[in-house]
Amino acid sequence: MSVRQRRVSYGDAVYENRSLHIVVMVGLPARGKTYMAKKLTRYLNWVGIKTKVFNNGDYVRKITRQCSDHNFFRPENEEASMLRKKCSVDAITDIVRWLQEEHGRVAVFDATNTTRDRRRMIHQIVEKQLTCKLFFIESICDDAQLVEANIKEVKVNGPDYKGVKPEKALADFLQRIEHYKRIYEPLDEEKEKYLSYMKIYNTGEKVLVHKHKGHVQAKIVYYLMHIHISKRSIYFSRLKVWTSWMQRTIQTCRDINAPTERWKALNEIDAVSSVINVYHMSLFRYRRGESYEDLVARLEPVIMELERESNVLVVAHQAVLRCLLAYFRDIATDELPYIEVPLHTVIKLTPAAYGCDIEYVHLDVPSVNTHRGKPQVPGDLNTAPLPIVNVEIPQTYQPTFRQSL
Ligand code: ATP
Repeated sequence: MSVRQRRVSYGDAVYENRSLHIVVMVGLPARGKTYMAKKLTRYLNWVGIKTKVFNNGDYVRKITRQCSDHNFFRPENEEASMLRKKCSVDAITDIVRWLQEEHGRVAVFDATNTTRDRRRMIHQIVEKQLTCKLFFIESICDDAQLVEANIKEVKVNGPDYKGVKPEKALADFLQRIEHYKRIYEPLDEEKEKYLSYMKIYNTGEKVLVHKHKGHVQAKIVYYLMHIHISKRSIYFSRLKVWTSWMQRTIQTCRDINAPTERWKALNEIDAVSSVINVYHMSLFRYRRGESYEDLVARLEPVIMELERESNVLVVAHQAVLRCLLAYFRDIATDELPYIEVPLHTVIKLTPAAYGCDIEYVHLDVPSVNTHRGKPQVPGDLNTAPLPIVNVEIPQTYQPTFRQSL
């Protein structure tokens, strides 16, 4: 199916008329490339832009077990270098196929890509095979303590060092980094001025953006400028306190002795469409109503601020909390309307290296369970073409929907 025949999704409709993007990570090992690649992917999928990460390490591990030995990463080890280069080409080939055949919009290539040669090769392959926008994201970090903490957090128990003692894994990984440092060429403002890129220094202390193109790349830059890696927790239901403008959330927090902010964006979804969403798909939006996709769009500024914040408590409504949970838990759009958000429960989210831990603290208050599971729908409803937004209901049907409320 050609690009022109794709089905129109919400993200496609809103962002740049379906232009395709390849985002390429750059940087020494343990600089947060995978962390950013996964987080960015979760965010773009959440706003309706189909995104997938292609991790070069996964390709290498499929064909060799040598990654636990730093000698595999020595630049002089020609056999290993050829093998790693082949993996990069395989990953890029898969990216091209995914964008062309599986209707992907943004592919994130997660690898070190530390030499100008490698970046030129990627540029040439992409230019030749695809009409798409290429954007490099480089993470630069010279804080040795942070790098060591990163290694301890995600590398020593990671897939490369299964069965290896943590101290041995740490020592080996530090040597691996030394091998990369000998060939590392950071993105060069003069020699690589033909590329579009963003450089992030020391987890966002400084950011440099060069020749970014279009709305999706601007969105990526804007998002990555909001994230941080400090440890914190976010509490839903119940400390800065954020509430909607609706009385029931304000009342819930009236006895909490903490600064409170009211967000109109946290108001509950429009009631008419929320009923319709349960029975149809979350892309439908009826006249004067809201779909879950509309709600996600409304909540984007809230997510940006939540990314910047330290500890915060958000007291909001079922549909709103579903959207926020879908973002933090990486839950697909079609599952979003069925996420369970129990009453009288505090949901504690603690962002971790590659995801988010979740804990439910049930308060001792009896209540009814208002959750409704995903209904069984006939197969053809799932495969039917996606509806265009702004569907209007004939006047005669509207009273029926209102009565069903
Ligand atoms: P490798 O090349 O070995 O795959 P990597 O660069 O992908 O390494 P990650 O696996 O992403 O490194 O490292 C995750 C760790 O990096 C987490 O502990 C996270 O807190 C931290 N981190 C996230 N962003 C940054 C950043 N911009 N700079 C440094 N560390 C970061």
